Amino acid sequence: TEPIRVAIAGHGNLGRGVEAAMGHNPDMQLVGIYTRRPPEQLRPRQPGTPVFAMETQPGHAGRIDVLILCGGSREDLPRQGPEYAALFNTVDSFDTHARIPEYFTAVDAPAKANRRTALISAGWDPGMFSINRILGEALLPDGETYTFWGDGLSQGHSDAVRRIPGVAGAVQYTRPVPAAMERARNGSRPALATREKHRRECFVVLQDGVEPGPVREAIVTMEHYFADYDTTVNFISAEELARNHAAMMHGGFVIRSGKTSANTTQTIEYSLKLDSNPEFTASVLVAYARAVHRLHAMGQFGAKTVFDVPPGLLSPRSAEQLRAGQL
Ligand code: NDP
Repeated sequence: TEPIRVAIAGHGNLGRGVEAAMGHNPDMQLVGIYTRRPPEQLRPRQPGTPVFAMETQPGHAGRIDVLILCGGSREDLPRQGPEYAALFNTVDSFDTHARIPEYFTAVDAPAKANRRTALISAGWDPGMFSINRILGEALLPDGETYTFWGDGLSQGHSDAVRRIPGVAGAVQYTRPVPAAMERARNGSRPALATREKHRRECFVVLQDGVEPGPVREAIVTMEHYFADYDTTVNFISAEELARNHAAMMHGGFVIRSGKTSANTTQTIEYSLKLDSNPEFTASVLVAYARAVHRLHAMGQFGAKTVFDVPPGLLSPRSAEQLRAGQL
């Protein structure tokens, strides 16, 4: 059979992760990378990979089976998602949780009108964590679900610290509180406040001559980001930031504990420990690209989420092979 022809739209961390993931999926072929920047500026992992200007895309519809959208959720995907769903089968990682319903509607209409399949909000959260949350709720209806994130680098919180005057560089780690995780696991169904579940740790490089005290105060009191958490602030050198804090590690846990009879507690736990958040997210997107190609061949058009995709469609193996070896 012919390989599934996949292309990448947007070459940031996630786009580079998709390039890496393609190397592990021999039933797929990377046919191009599309970018809004001058194509000659990009350095693909495989030097021979063709790079195109984003605006050439409409003319390439016949060459691509699935386009993986790797733009940012805040600025890029709200425009690119609906636009490209009219032209291609797509997969994206839209992760602004509160806006997923409206994003679904915006992508669904052009995809349906043009008989395309568009899988939105894949990745790990939303994505694999979402699947594990609904599995827990369906299997143990009398129970409680807990999501913990970390240890991990939060891009949004790191950016917020970098915007404080006097800060030259910064990263922020989200860390789950072990005692809270134990309480979630032991079936006592605790009500856990925000501050009890996670703490935040910042590593900050100051500009020359800047006093640490006011910067620390600006961080720990920042509304919506740090004010509701116990936050530790460490001041370090630019060299130390570059040496020890460049990896985009992340991960987390989805825990469901519930009762199946009065004295019988059951606990389900799914956990991820990721050396690279974007490379793992990209691996999920590539598996869903395979599923999207198959859903499209079955005539299932319109926007889809991870809840709509049977797991067998993610595997390179056929349903028959999976029945023989995997059940
Ligand atoms: P980046 O900021 O690295 O890239 C976003 C876009 O910015 C790229 O597609 C690229 O578009 C452009 N870009 C990248 N580098 C540069 C540069 N040096 N100069 C100018 N433009 C640049 O974001 P990430 O790849 O790290 O993340 C993308 C999204 O993935 C996030 O917004 C997040 O929403 C989502 N995500 C989802 C997860 C999930 O579990 N669902 C987990 C992790 C991330 P172009 O090539 O067109 O210029």
